[in-house]
Amino acid sequence: MTRATMSTATARAACGRCPWTATTANALAIAALHHDRTGHPVHVDLHRRVTYGDSAADAPGQESLTAQLEEAA
Ligand SMILES: [Zn+2]
Repeated sequence: MTRATMSTATARAACGRCPWTATTANALAIAALHHDRTGHPVHVDLHRRVTYGDSAADAPGQESLTAQLEEAA
């Protein structure tokens, strides 16, 4: 069986002690480096979307899913 699958991931990192932030694709890695260099606590929020099928028009919008996740937290 062939199934169209698409996966995307976004990350949002922020330091708990200074203004440092990152939203790039490698945010997880550079957040670890920021912690290693400074000793600051760094938080990384990850969002991963997996879509089965190729009907993008039927998928909920990014803002909709983010709002649902934030309400659930
Ligand atoms: Zn910091």
